Amino acid sequence: MFIGHYSAAFAARAFKPAVPLWLLFVAVQVVDFIWAALVIAGVEKVRIVPGFMEASPLDLYYMPFTHSLVGAFIWALAAVVLYGAMRKGAGHWVAGLILGTAVLSHWFADLLVHAPDLPLVSGDPKYGFGLWRSLFWSQVLEIGLLFAGFWLYLRNTKPKGAAGRIAPWIFLLTLVAVQAISHSGEVEADASATLFAITALIAYSVIALGAWMMDRTRNTK
Ligand SMILES: [Zn+2]
Repeated sequence: MFIGHYSAAFAARAFKPAVPLWLLFVAVQVVDFIWAALVIAGVEKVRIVPGFMEASPLDLYYMPFTHSLVGAFIWALAAVVLYGAMRKGAGHWVAGLILGTAVLSHWFADLLVHAPDLPLVSGDPKYGFGLWRSLFWSQVLEIGLLFAGFWLYLRNTKPKGAAGRIAPWIFLLTLVAVQAISHSGEVEADASATLFAITALIAYSVIALGAWMMDRTRNTK
């Protein structure tokens, strides 16, 4: 899953305004940030197989450190501890817990669309409901999730000025456009997984930066 993950970030920002939106955008993709780094390092393994699933050419056959349920819990716990230790003041542990939940949400969102490639610890059994087998239904799910989160965000924030009325919509359209681009074009049989991982890292970073810029135009209600 790609932009659907940001639904949880928008929802968490609506629920707990103390945590900045950009940080939540990083949190929901922490698992994939580390996955991309481990793919580049050759620790976790992926094959690019054109037509593997209608909505994804990725045969993610080895990723126990990032995409196992236990792994996702550990990254989530690390986020809680890091945030809790670095922040002070009332409610910072609750904010840390929200951040940790955002990290953990990644695994459960992936569970909906992935082929059975998500282990509990490592090896079998692996889980994945496989919605990526349908391009149409996987996009209905991802974009539907994103819109629901975005709606919560709009309801719980208010524009600072004219920019605050336009920026969220430009940002939303950009996310949908990036998603569309990621699903267009032919996948080469010899496409490089490393290049894919680098592209993912850049995309996730630029999107988090976009979230920061957009959120500056909104006030908490
Ligand atoms: Zn993932």
